[in-house]
Amino acid sequence: MRTSPAGRAPAPRAEQLGFTGMPERLFVCTPSKLGTYADCPRRYRFSYVDRPSPPKGPPWAHNSLGASVHTALKNWFALPPERRTRAALPALLKGTWVREGYRDEVQERAAYRRALEWLEGYVGGLDPAAEPVGVERVVAVKTAVLAFNGRADRIDARGGELAIVDYKTGRTGLDSDDARGSQALALYAYAAERVFRRPCRRVELHHLPSGTIAAHDHTQESLARQVSRAEDTARDILDAEKAVAAGADPDEAFPTTPGPMCGWCDFRRSCPAGVTDKEPWAGLDRSL
Ligand code: SF4
Repeated sequence: MRTSPAGRAPAPRAEQLGFTGMPERLFVCTPSKLGTYADCPRRYRFSYVDRPSPPKGPPWAHNSLGASVHTALKNWFALPPERRTRAALPALLKGTWVREGYRDEVQERAAYRRALEWLEGYVGGLDPAAEPVGVERVVAVKTAVLAFNGRADRIDARGGELAIVDYKTGRTGLDSDDARGSQALALYAYAAERVFRRPCRRVELHHLPSGTIAAHDHTQESLARQVSRAEDTARDILDAEKAVAAGADPDEAFPTTPGPMCGWCDFRRSCPAGVTDKEPWAGLDRSL
């Protein structure tokens, strides 16, 4: 096996050693794993193949902010319905606030205040008595190629059907095309439909900073198309891994795909694409 210029050998996969006639193992994946490869095969290699993995850059403040808001909402729904009030939010947000990545305490306090405003506005539009089917609920499903699992922010009951809800705290301007095109949301819907044995076609992006919802209603066919695309990605990944195991150059099997997302890549400091570094709080400008 060849090693990369960085001296890291891609970890071997047991399923690459299959014998003729034996069924291939399912590709175990999350939406994030598939999305990472679709965005950049080299980033996939850094994240999931190279061992040890190259060092990541410092934590991002916008990720800390997003995680803090998600956890506060999760814990808000864990309260009994009579305690699901706006007044409960400051303690919930403070209790699980993630501090990493901010420039200083002034910036962090401003982010906390903004996050609290978003949460207060958001829960003000919710019915506290409405019990979601799942909050940060893991759903899993197998196809001919994939063993998929993922954690949906929220799964709501809407009449006799289900809806996938994904919270967003970043960029503005999300619309129904973003909801329609999200492979992650489609896979959650596909899996939820099978786990709960109820139709799940609606997917929604809830953008807390603007209080807007971008939604799309899938059909059985459009969900099947997204699953098929996910399977194609999985096959590409397996092919790349097999090529490396057979002696191909890992840098060619997992090429870089430089683009705007490089500035936000955790591995930008290890990548030959030569990306200009950003401050860990740079993404806050897009959020605050
Ligand atoms: S910096 Fe860009 S090209 Fe390099 S691994 Fe990250 S996303 Fe890929």
